[in-house]
Amino acid sequence: MATMRAAVLTAPHRFDLREVAVPEVGPDDALIRVQRTGICGTDIHMFNGHYAADRLPLVPGHEFAGTVAATGERVKHIKPGTTCVADINIGCGQCYWCRRNEILNCPSMTQVGIGREGAFAEYVCVPARLVIPAPDDVPVEVLALTEPVSCVVRAARKAQASFGQSVVILGAGPIGNLHVQMMRLCGAAPIIIADLSQDRCRLALAAGADAAVADPAQLKQEVLKRTGGRGADLVIESVGSPRLYAFAFELIRKGGHVAFFGLSGPNDTVPVDILRTILEENSLKGSVAGMGEDMHDALTLLSHGRFRTEAFTRATFPLDDIQRAFETLAERPRDLKTQIILN
Ligand SMILES: [Zn+2]
Ligand SMILES: [Zn+2]
Repeated sequence: MATMRAAVLTAPHRFDLREVAVPEVGPDDALIRVQRTGICGTDIHMFNGHYAADRLPLVPGHEFAGTVAATGERVKHIKPGTTCVADINIGCGQCYWCRRNEILNCPSMTQVGIGREGAFAEYVCVPARLVIPAPDDVPVEVLALTEPVSCVVRAARKAQASFGQSVVILGAGPIGNLHVQMMRLCGAAPIIIADLSQDRCRLALAAGADAAVADPAQLKQEVLKRTGGRGADLVIESVGSPRLYAFAFELIRKGGHVAFFGLSGPNDTVPVDILRTILEENSLKGSVAGMGEDMHDALTLLSHGRFRTEAFTRATFPLDDIQRAFETLAERPRDLKTQIILN
């Protein structure tokens, strides 16, 4: 039996490095030899025991890039040796939601590294239809950002972001920083970022924000000042705080839009003023994971150097040090992402 090295999250705060069987490749599957896997906020929630604790033990990891190692007997469209990324959202492929690229609403949806074995391992197995060939001349550490970038691509699409729109992004963490860059690509102006961390505000300014506000008491005033006193066309909440969601509605202009993005607790709610929403024609929409076209668009943008990726790719740890990689995250706020090197 062929074996591989894998980081198994056996309990909150505890990775076990194990020699496990290489996943079985079904007739419609592709086995990917993983080269890089980024640590996502979701992985951190799992590590801390705040999410999916009932699914442990599990190999997490869903922000990966690598090469096709083997394919199932019915797979014709991809060949071993192909550099690739993969869409991690596995739907049935046939239902109403799958056909609309709303895979998370599919009744049988699961996700690589969240609902099934992921890519903090030398190999990961996925349905071959979800494998996306990638250009060979793009560094693998950049390819491994395709999944997180796809999430902000989808958010921009769902918010119908466009040129000349004023945008406020609440939260300058890794994804907040990518929202800034995506809004820049959409032609939004001005782009205002808000975060309590000065370090992360500075990184967001370097990534293309026009203004950064670290003092929450100054935010509304700053937004009004930069939007002709109207408020922002679009506010993206990228923290997950009910209080900030409520605040987002105070920052939009009449007819503005609030993008729900930061994950809150399961029962959190936010009051929405019904009459104001109707009379001002305000709107809100949620989105979370990128999939399908979002993955392809993210790969295209990354392949053509449209994202500044240095702060996302410089912190790396070998698989054997994954425990330390997770434990030191809080000490490294300037590393917007940490990647695990596999092969
Ligand atoms: Zn993720
Ligand atoms: Zn489906």
